[in-house]
Amino acid sequence: MRLAKLVLGLRSQGVTDPAVLTAIERTPRDLFTPDLFKDRSWEDSALPIACGQTISQPYIVGLMTQALTLEPRSRVLEIGTGSGYQTSVLSRLSRLVYTVERYRTLLRAAEARFEALQITNVITRFGDGFLGWGEQAPFDRILITAAAPDEPIVLLRQLKPSGVLVAPVGKGPVQELRRYAGDGQGGFSMDVLCEVRFVPLLEGVAREL
Ligand code: SAH
Repeated sequence: MRLAKLVLGLRSQGVTDPAVLTAIERTPRDLFTPDLFKDRSWEDSALPIACGQTISQPYIVGLMTQALTLEPRSRVLEIGTGSGYQTSVLSRLSRLVYTVERYRTLLRAAEARFEALQITNVITRFGDGFLGWGEQAPFDRILITAAAPDEPIVLLRQLKPSGVLVAPVGKGPVQELRRYAGDGQGGFSMDVLCEVRFVPLLEGVAREL
């Protein structure tokens, strides 16, 4: 019931792709939220998780996933695994998801959730997402779920010529949600979708757990 209400809300806000809505419907968000906030799992809001990070707002997850225009054969790179919620949604719409996180604690918890949900097409890495995942590049799609301070040049280079990259870009508390689309010849077009508030992309891996 609360899930149905959430999905209706997303649709009325412009997340209309039926495959994206179904993927959100099939992803139990309460599995990704901490005990303290379980009862708020079906609200359309971002919530705190461990390590001072956040699980994204469902509307933003829907909007970014829709903007990626995933195809069943897509190989996707995600930067910022966090709780693994967005990763799980991506995994239902693509062939393989490579996800990078700079906190070991978050990554381990996310891996346990993928296992519990029998998600087998996610490959995780503890590392600095600023560097992307060179060994597995190029990717069909790239999603950054933390705010990049500037144009994500390193990651754009790891995108296929006709690929799509979606990322919040900006140094302040409010950033632009950008969609870069390759023109097939090494160039890109860029659209700003809306304003968003993400935690910043930080350099290096976290020294604390
Ligand atoms: N998509 C997540 C939300 C993630 S919040 C979810 O659905 O829960 C952003 C995440 O990006 C945080 O977990 C943060 O630790 C991670 N992050 C920030 N900078 C990073 C970097 N350089 N490399 C990898 N992960 C990074």
